[in-house]
Amino acid sequence: MNQPDWQDYAAETQAIRAGQKRSHEGEHSMPIFATSSYVFGSAEEASLKFTGQQPGNIYSRFTNPTVATFQERLALMEKGERCLAFASGMAAIMAVGMALLKAGDHVVCSRSVFGNTVLAFQNYFGKFGVETDFVKLTDPAAWEAAIKPNTRFLFLETPSNPLIEIADIRALADIAHRHGCLLVVDNVFCTPILQQPLALGADIVVHSATKYIDGQGRCVGGAVVANEEIIEKQVYPYLRTGGATLSPFNAWVFAGGLETLAIRMKAHCDNAFELAKWLERQDAVGKVHYPGLASHAQHELAKRQQSHFGAVVSFELKGGKEEAWRLIDATRMLSVTANLGDVKTTITHPATTTHGRLTPEARAEAGINDSLVRISVGLENIDDIKADLAAGLAAA
Ligand SMILES: *Cc1c(COP(=O)(O)O)cnc(C)c1O
Repeated sequence: MNQPDWQDYAAETQAIRAGQKRSHEGEHSMPIFATSSYVFGSAEEASLKFTGQQPGNIYSRFTNPTVATFQERLALMEKGERCLAFASGMAAIMAVGMALLKAGDHVVCSRSVFGNTVLAFQNYFGKFGVETDFVKLTDPAAWEAAIKPNTRFLFLETPSNPLIEIADIRALADIAHRHGCLLVVDNVFCTPILQQPLALGADIVVHSATKYIDGQGRCVGGAVVANEEIIEKQVYPYLRTGGATLSPFNAWVFAGGLETLAIRMKAHCDNAFELAKWLERQDAVGKVHYPGLASHAQHELAKRQQSHFGAVVSFELKGGKEEAWRLIDATRMLSVTANLGDVKTTITHPATTTHGRLTPEARAEAGINDSLVRISVGLENIDDIKADLAAGLAAA
């Protein structure tokens, strides 16, 4: 039976159907190819495959059918030409840097990115002569002003963590291209179900599959999606040499995660929107940060750029650290952890955990005050989530 051209199908269908090549056993569900190497029919076939003259599996550091299924699905869903999976989200981000940067290059990065992403650029690429300037995510003029003749790419996350600010991907892609740079977008918070940065002009998308793609907090993994040229000439040779490969088991979990991603994201976002509206009505709560609310500074942009508003909500209590800690400690169901993108709702105090190593001045500059609480809204019944938080708010 001929495979349909999956590009013509919707993301929900691609997530379930694309990328799986049924073996001679006729299995319906996806198998796990737990093999490090592959055998060849002849010495000549081995030679043709090793030298790239004939496609096929060689060694699971860079070719594995289960990993390939995950890659094909995610590439289609992100509207990219090709995807490569990595051992973690950080491994994917490191791969983009290792593949694209050289000593003397310059990067412009949002100030509001994942903590280890800041360290990757500052400490590791910095060590090899790559300079990075950090700018305010929502200020396109600051991005443009930071670009130098040797700038190779701009790097951002939208929405940001923990203040859920939104960057205009199309505007920043235009700025990048006008100056001969690429735009790299970390699409972890939205997933391709809510936002497709490549369709908005970005050149490279990176993922931590650890979050919503798994969705149940089991495995660590990541991915890079871009055009054929960037992947084949730059990122793939780095994967082959760098070796931060995704395991077939984790790829199997993630490929299965993609199959339910669309309905999970809708349910996550519906719960989060409901919770944000409820939080806005609570007396103990000051500002609520959620792009679905009319009070959010980039509400219109979020409506235009995303198909839903995401599932991370943060809010400020009237009070400070004591009140925030009392609230967190009075909840009984929510998980006190900084992880996100799980079916389980999680609650965290950014000022003393994820952003606890920043100086008070740096935290203030980033807008992260001591009363800020962040919630990654899960899939429990929304009334149970509200009840748990109501108990917390009463104690605060
Ligand atoms: C978790 C995360 C990462 C890093 O991913 P790992 O899989 O933990 O290495 C990068 N970016 C964002 C936005 C994340 O939330």
